[in-house]
Parts: sequence; structure tokens; C-alpha cells
Amino acid sequence: MLTIENLHTSYSGIEVLHGITMDVGRGEKVALLGANGAGKTTTLSSIVGIAKEKAGRVVFDRQDITDIETYNAVRKGIVLVPEGRHIFTKLTVEENILIGGFLMSRHRDRLVGQLERVYAIFPLLRDRRRQMAGTLSGGEQQMLAIGRGLMSNPKLMLLDEPSLGLSPIMVSRIFKIIDEINYLGVSILIVEQNANIALEFTDKTYVLELGHINLSGPSRVLKDDERIKTAYLGM
Ligand code: ATP
Repeated sequence: MLTIENLHTSYSGIEVLHGITMDVGRGEKVALLGANGAGKTTTLSSIVGIAKEKAGRVVFDRQDITDIETYNAVRKGIVLVPEGRHIFTKLTVEENILIGGFLMSRHRDRLVGQLERVYAIFPLLRDRRRQMAGTLSGGEQQMLAIGRGLMSNPKLMLLDEPSLGLSPIMVSRIFKIIDEINYLGVSILIVEQNANIALEFTDKTYVLELGHINLSGPSRVLKDDERIKTAYLGM
């Protein structure tokens, strides 16, 4: 579904991704692990057209999207749930969710139908729909960010550190929800520092170090890899 070939990305001429190659198959859950500054967020930004200084190729659904504009990436079915959630704190929960449906804003029936689908996955958001988004807990805000992303009915969801700052119980809840979304047919590429949960829950993992993919393979195999245990699992 998504193929990244020899991607180099720079900021103001300084290269931070040095030719990475990876792919996400249809229906797959893929993790991208790496330390701070390795280039994980840059990889996601490169896919959706936020990072623009690029060489190499990004292909989605057999189409070259290397130079795509972000709103067109959403149109094609790719959505990014950004690190730090970026919700609109002064808007209500429902207003935040509806913003994610901007592509269908002229089609009220579709918009309402999709909103109902989001509420079916997140009954809590339905209960809180009139609450100011900034007053939600961290975990609830993460649910809101994912729910907003789902409003565009994506084929591929990119999640940037959804576990950040959450309690272990909330992290498990969020990952169960991501599993459910994947079960409904959405492919997943997830950036994580929490290697334990990422390896547990995904099919395939790539490890990024200073802009290079240094390790990749089935997550269940990498879980027992000595290099991963030492560098990421504290063993
Ligand atoms: P973290 O886990 O801390 O979020 P990361 O693996 O996601 O890290 P990136 O945010 O992709 O890493 O950053 C990779 C490198 O690119 C870093 O050296 C960072 O300083 C640099 N960088 C990221 N965004 C920009 C930007 N907009 N302008 C200039 N440099 C940037």
C-alpha cells in the first residue's frame, strides 16, 4: 500500500533522513522505532507532504505521492495523528471531530454517518461531545485526535507517539482501539518510543537510527533480538 524508496529528507539543506526504504502492506500494522531525533516524525511528515525537501520516492496505492500537498494526501486516504495531539482546546469535542471531516463538509449525510462511526468506536467521545476539548484527560485527548483522524475515512493512519505521557492502562486502551481500527480495514504506521508495546502489537518493525534504517523484520522476531533488548527494552 505504501512504499518509501531511498528517501532523503532535509531541513534548510541539512539532511536528516539518509535514504530510508520501507513499506506498509494493505491491512498491516507497522512500527517505526527510534531514539529522540532519529527522524521518526520527519518520516511521517515526508509521507504526508509536510516536509518538502526530499529526494527518493513515496508511492501510495501505486501512485507517486512524493511531492503531494498535505490536503491531497488526506484525499487519497492517508491521515496523520500528530505527536502531542494538536486538538483545539477551546472547541468542543464534537467540533474537533467534525474538523477531521472537512473533505465531506458539503455532504451532511456522509458527515453525520462518519461521525456515528467514530462514536461507535469511542462511546466516551459521544458522552463528552459538548465538553471543551482542553478539559479532557491526556488519554481522552488522544482518543479525540484519533477520532478526528478517522473522520476522513482513511486507508492508512499514521500515528506519532500515541502513548506519549499516558499511564500504562491508558496505553493498553489506546492500542486496543488502534487494533480495532486496523480490524476495520485501516493500515497502520505507528511511531513509538515505547518499544515494548509497539513490538507486541505490530506485524513488522523498522528501527531508525540517525536517519538510517538499521534493523527491520517481523515484530515477534525483533522482540527477542539482542540489539533491540539492549537498546530499547532495557534488558
Ligand atoms: P522525537 O522522538 O524526539 O520526536 P524524532 O525521531 O521524531 O524525534 P525528528 O523530529 O524527525 O525526530 O527530528 C529529526 C532531526 O530533524 C532532528 O535533528 C531535528 O532537530 C530535525 N528537525 C525536525 N524538524 C525540523 C524542522 N522543522 N526544522 C529543522 N530541523 C528539524
